[in-house]
Amino acid sequence: MDVSALAQSVNGPVYRPGDEGYAEEVAAFNLSRQHTPDVVVAARSADDVAAAVRWAGEHALPVGVQATGHGAVLPITDGVLVSTRGLDEVTIDPVRRTARVGAGVKWRRVLDAAAEHGLAGLCGSTSDVGVVGYTLGGGLPVLGRKYGFSSDRVRSFDVVTGDGQLHHVEAGDGTELDWALRGGKGNVGIVTSMEVELLEIADLYGGAIFWPGALAPTLLTVFAEWVDTLPDEFSASISLLRLPPLPEVPAPLRGQFTVHLRIAYLGDDAEGERLLAPMRAVAPPMIDMVGRMPYAELDRIHMDPEHPVPFEEGGTLLRELGPDTIEAILEQAGPDAQCPLLLVEVRLLGGALAGDRTDAVSGRDAPYSLFAVGALMPPIAEAVPGAIRAVVGAMAPWSTGGTMVNFHGVPGDDADRARAWSAPTFERLQRAKASYDPANLLRFGHAVPALDPA
Ligand SMILES: Cc1cc2nc3c(=O)[nH]c(=O)nc-3n(C[C@H](O)[C@H](O)[C@H](O)COP(=O)(O)OP(=O)(O)OC[C@H]3O[C@@H](n4cnc5c(N)ncnc54)[C@H](O)[C@@H]3O)c2cc1C
Repeated sequence: MDVSALAQSVNGPVYRPGDEGYAEEVAAFNLSRQHTPDVVVAARSADDVAAAVRWAGEHALPVGVQATGHGAVLPITDGVLVSTRGLDEVTIDPVRRTARVGAGVKWRRVLDAAAEHGLAGLCGSTSDVGVVGYTLGGGLPVLGRKYGFSSDRVRSFDVVTGDGQLHHVEAGDGTELDWALRGGKGNVGIVTSMEVELLEIADLYGGAIFWPGALAPTLLTVFAEWVDTLPDEFSASISLLRLPPLPEVPAPLRGQFTVHLRIAYLGDDAEGERLLAPMRAVAPPMIDMVGRMPYAELDRIHMDPEHPVPFEEGGTLLRELGPDTIEAILEQAGPDAQCPLLLVEVRLLGGALAGDRTDAVSGRDAPYSLFAVGALMPPIAEAVPGAIRAVVGAMAPWSTGGTMVNFHGVPGDDADRARAWSAPTFERLQRAKASYDPANLLRFGHAVPALDPA
């Protein structure tokens, strides 16, 4: 393959397999997914992205995109990988309360830069994910019940569509692009930068509490009743957690089965304590790290892995969390289960996440999300995919049948991919894709199938 014309048309480096720099550029946070594209373009500008997409189109090659590899659900096996890591602009406008964010930027940099002005962006459970990749999937923030999905706060996108054209898309401009970029993942194009709204949040009452896993039945039962009493300012999730016996895991949790409650409350400490009291009353915790904390330290709530790991994940949206649902969760991942999964979590949705906004975000119709993750490490690696299928499958009687694309896990056949959106949204996304990516170049990851030409 002759990439000299491509290399001359872009500012960033172009790598072929075997080149120095190739392995580093394709490496994903999810170590179980090894990308092996024919060409990597390490983009340094929106023009680089456009040139890469046009070149791929001329050579009929598929195009993938990666910032961090947190969402590397499937390997990119051929074609062109556009690496956005070099699109690293972060500009805070404290007067307009916005951040302009390049496609390669992780939340950590935005949180730190915004915090200098007492401002905050709608980050999810970890600041290590890419702002753009996360937001294109809707982006479920820790404070979502109060402020909605991250994509609800995007002011504008700069995007190279699958036909190689550059567009500037303003929020609410009525275009299909604006609609499809809010929750439609990377289906219509490669976003090169975004402008997002920032909020005046300096700190919150929140953190993590851990109990011994034997208490899981009581804790899940109390959790299900308790969450009904919470205002939208209070976000909560609960996880059945089995951390491996590795030295880097803190001693009380190492190799143990525990229950991990994660909370974030936008209010004063006294009211936070009062609202949290029913959970604290269940039993004395092993660890209680709830208190006032700077917003920029919100990684302390979920305590997601900070370093690359091999993993697989899967999820579904729940209509209810009744006693039967809890029993089914416990059967799969409770104290008596031989469960190989790192975590099985239930997140409370609702509040500002619900509602009838017109966009491609899924999850607005469900009060809970169930999500399961397993480490693909010996000796349990082989058991993980089946255990994820089992726990998600066991939720069928209470599931909406749908998923949020950021929590979907490995995309399967067309019917499985369709579960990440409602049926009308999926069809509209397919039509948008047909118009902005007519050659179906963007067909990796959570790509919707191309429309039948007939
Ligand atoms: C530990 C962990 C915690 C998480 N917590 C949350 C959470 O709380 N809330 C939540 O909503 N999600 C969460 N996620 C899911 C995460 O938002 C998705 O995996 C997201 O895709 C990560 O984006 P990325 O750019 O970091 O990853 P990448 O693997 O680099 O990208 C993943 C995909 O995003 C798309 N994409 C990325 N960049 C672009 C671009 N510039 N243009 C077009 N498409 C692009 C592509 O489809 C790409 O394949 C979590 C994931 C992990 C691993």
